[in-house]
Amino acid sequence: MNFAIACDLEGLAGVVGFPKEGLGTTSKQYEFAKKQAVREINAAAAGLFDSNADKVYVWDNHNGSLNLDYMELDKRVDIVAGVGAKHRWPGLYDKNIDAALLLGYHPKADTYGGILSHTCSSVTYQYLKINGKSMGEIEIDAVSACRLLNAPVIFAASDDKAISQAKESLPWIKSVITKEALGRNLAVLKHPLRVVDEINETVKNAVEHLEDMQLYDVEDPVEVEMRFLRLEDAEKVYKSKTKNVELIDAFTVRFTAQSFLELY
Ligand SMILES: [Zn+2]
Repeated sequence: MNFAIACDLEGLAGVVGFPKEGLGTTSKQYEFAKKQAVREINAAAAGLFDSNADKVYVWDNHNGSLNLDYMELDKRVDIVAGVGAKHRWPGLYDKNIDAALLLGYHPKADTYGGILSHTCSSVTYQYLKINGKSMGEIEIDAVSACRLLNAPVIFAASDDKAISQAKESLPWIKSVITKEALGRNLAVLKHPLRVVDEINETVKNAVEHLEDMQLYDVEDPVEVEMRFLRLEDAEKVYKSKTKNVELIDAFTVRFTAQSFLELY
């Protein structure tokens, strides 16, 4: 069996960030987040190898990639690193991936009180809707895993808000709550080392239930609605798209894409 672990940073144990900041390299918590990402990945990878994994791929995908200290990762994993990919889950389309796992993912942009809630960029969207449903990166990467890897997402670790969103879309998912969100930058943190232990156990449980896991997809063509934080971004999309872009209001555009893969 082969597995793909995607690792973002905002949803990791111990991370709350700081108001009006993303989790960039100058953030007070960036160094901690990098180290916690390695701990959570290694716990998940160990759980997978204990469950007879042949290959475990780790996709380092936060903000331009290259966040992790690769020398500290379990040496049995392979790593997808860098930028410039056309689609999500780069490099893994021919790797016969059986299942995908999400670490450090976070609530979608329009989540009240979720830790560092955003969708794709912390400075771009108020929300992204596909076929009328608000989608975050958990949903986007689950659809992408379906389309590109033919694999279900079986596990996620994040704050309580993101996990309830994941369960709403992917009811089969096994999960670990890393922190109880009290606001965008405020949480009751489960101790990061206890989270690591829970990830290891729960990942093994997810693999045991592999036959219950399902693909998550959306129906093509997709109706896309984007509400931007800044109206010049909406204006740019409205002016640049040639086909059928409707301006809903100064911040919001809607258009149809023939395939989800035109977007991600
Ligand atoms: Zn991120």
